[in-house]
Amino acid sequence: MTISIPMIDPAAEYRAQQTEIDAAIHRVLASGRFVLGPEGEALEREVAAYVGVPHAVGCNSGTDALLLALVAAGVGAGDEVVVPAFTFFATAEAVSHTGATPVFADIDPATFNLSAPALEACVTARTRAVIAVHLFGQCAALDAISAVCRKHKLLLVEDCAQALGADYQGLRAGAWGDFGCFSFYPTKNLSATGDAGMITTREEPYAQRLRMLRHHGSDRTYVHEHLGWNSRLDELQAAVLRVKLTRLERYNDTRRRLAHCYRQGLQGLALNLPYEDPRGRHVYHQFTLRSDQRDAIRAALARAGVASSIYYPIPLHRQPVYALRRPPPSLPESDAAARSVLSLPIGPLLDEASIERICALVRAALT
Ligand SMILES: *Cc1c(COP(=O)(O)O)cnc(C)c1O
Repeated sequence: MTISIPMIDPAAEYRAQQTEIDAAIHRVLASGRFVLGPEGEALEREVAAYVGVPHAVGCNSGTDALLLALVAAGVGAGDEVVVPAFTFFATAEAVSHTGATPVFADIDPATFNLSAPALEACVTARTRAVIAVHLFGQCAALDAISAVCRKHKLLLVEDCAQALGADYQGLRAGAWGDFGCFSFYPTKNLSATGDAGMITTREEPYAQRLRMLRHHGSDRTYVHEHLGWNSRLDELQAAVLRVKLTRLERYNDTRRRLAHCYRQGLQGLALNLPYEDPRGRHVYHQFTLRSDQRDAIRAALARAGVASSIYYPIPLHRQPVYALRRPPPSLPESDAAARSVLSLPIGPLLDEASIERICALVRAALT
């Protein structure tokens, strides 16, 4: 069976802005500036303004954005960093690469995001930082999480890889924490044609440190003050991202409208639709429902050529690399989410007829 409705359609997104993207690419090729140049600087200014913070620093990926943010704040060996157990692996991987230890906290089952009480229960004398992931495009409870961070003097890093354009109590994702870490991987709401990432911050000294860390710890040629990385944002990706940024608001609104179609088409069925926290704007990076019949739904969709995905089948405390070192803690909500979640297609170029077709297939599978 060929796939008639994929999870994402990057080529269609390219065709939708082909003239502008081609022009941007040719402008960069003709300029001869390929790494750290005017396109990257302009994208940094544009993303900073969009998020509502003074500084943004481009880098190679969302994973590096997390790593560089933690290192810029001095997190390292001996420190503990609390992360939710139900997220993409990179959230914890970045912590481990600093030498610090990720400590897995359970999630709020309604939002799939880090639970503030679970976070507080994980705090020890060694805890230095918290990574709040805004999973599937919805912000974590940033007011409650910020309060825990203030009380225990912890650094707050937001993993905004899935949430560019989301907000919470009127502030955008990436504007709440000490750092906001973004990914422009081709599947994300703002997507490059390769790898790219960015870090937002309010603090000028952090921004300066980040600029050095992404460039071999150097801000003067051949003078290296820190051990850094080669994690620069290239000009071709920056130029493509600047074109696509002009459509982000519209595309996020489309995602919200399609989510509303799903809600109407799936109402009354024996499944849990995604909860929308009224305190914020959900940008539906994924439309993720919960059902104990999810494997049957998934099989029925596959038979009809409709893609679906399980994000994420194994929570981080059960990943071999972490679980083999010590017995996994008991995190019942993360385990339950991994057993029941199912994400349906929700790209910005999908039409409502496709959503209605998917809803009919889900309905048939459940009745
Ligand atoms: C995609 C993603 C990352 C990593 O971003 P890359 O650009 O792929 O390195 C980190 N955290 C979350 C939650 C993600 O979805």
